[in-house]
Amino acid sequence: MKKKKMFRCVECGTGTVHPTKRAGRRQRYKRVELVLPTGIQVPTCDQCGAEYISETSAAAEDAALEPQLR
Ligand SMILES: [Zn+2]
Repeated sequence: MKKKKMFRCVECGTGTVHPTKRAGRRQRYKRVELVLPTGIQVPTCDQCGAEYISETSAAAEDAALEPQLR
């Protein structure tokens, strides 16, 4: 059975959080601020824009951000 990775946002209580690709996001990573590649999906609320870093997306972000540190 396929699990949908969508849940109610705890920040605003009305929005739905689902994996979202977006350009121009910034992410603090190892004390520096880097720009997240557009292709990385981050669970984001469609109402207030709160982002939820899950283990899965965190791993994907690490893979995407690590090369930028070099
Ligand atoms: Zn929200």
